[in-house]
Amino acid sequence: MGLKHVEKKVDNILKKGQEGSVVAPVRMERDSKFCFACHPGVPCFTDCCRNMNIILTPYDIVRLKNRLGLTSDAFLHLYATPELLGITMLPVARLNMMEDKGGKCPFVTPDGCQVYSDRPVCCRYYPIGLASLRQQEKTSGEEEEFFFLVKEPHCKGFEESTEWTVESWRGDQEADLYDRMNREWMELLLRKKSFGEETELPEKARKLFYMVSTNMERFKSYVFESRFLETYVVPREIQKKILEDEVALMQFGFEYLKHAIFGAESDQIEIRKDILDETVKKIRKRRRKHKKKLQRLRMGKK
Ligand code: SF4
Ligand code: SF4
Repeated sequence: MGLKHVEKKVDNILKKGQEGSVVAPVRMERDSKFCFACHPGVPCFTDCCRNMNIILTPYDIVRLKNRLGLTSDAFLHLYATPELLGITMLPVARLNMMEDKGGKCPFVTPDGCQVYSDRPVCCRYYPIGLASLRQQEKTSGEEEEFFFLVKEPHCKGFEESTEWTVESWRGDQEADLYDRMNREWMELLLRKKSFGEETELPEKARKLFYMVSTNMERFKSYVFESRFLETYVVPREIQKKILEDEVALMQFGFEYLKHAIFGAESDQIEIRKDILDETVKKIRKRRRKHKKKLQRLRMGKK
């Protein structure tokens, strides 16, 4: 189930309380119980792996491209399409479904998911959705998370007798790990969403967001082979870590985006003082020029 799809369904439950929704309108906690199993013996096996709207998170891409032995460039070229995500208008990568094969996911085979242990996070959530992000907005930053059951009528997994708690299900699906890996990125999406649709990011910022969200090789070159380290102070131990560890690089990338696009303070990255002074000087000069121009225009009018 894609991020958009989940958000829409949560909206329906939380805002409208629609009856008869395919999502059971039941709030679940970590110790809530449910019965479910998905395996080659269920009659609907792999039926749901088609026409899915799967937005790939940065960690999804890292896991999938490494699983397939591809570079990010090759993975994106073969399997994804960029799109602007809803009200955030931020560029994200959507997993391509195979239109010529009835909308099947490129990773599904008659034996199941070919990339099962590295499948995207939204494939891991089903049938338990996480609604912490919505709550986060409502309580201005406080994270109150809760879960909900997505019980779709065609899914025969609910007829199985294997009993889970939300906690044991999420443990089995590595959902907590994925949530941890994606949290900072999701916060960037929310941050942008709170600015509203009308606050459009400049093209350069959008490109930067997409690169950091989808392409670790390019981001690594950007950090180590451009003027990045002449512009920013990055402690040596962080440089060493992100050079060796792709996941650390990804997380550093979120920190950088937070700082570069949203102007947030960071303890991992800081613009060099001389560059900062130079930038402030330039801005002041530009403002003075602009002010003078306005004054001339006003005087001309008079
Ligand atoms: S990635 Fe795997 S689990 Fe997810 S839709 Fe594709 S085949 Fe199904
Ligand atoms: S519909 Fe449900 S039981 Fe069937 S394959 Fe999909 S998740 Fe598994």
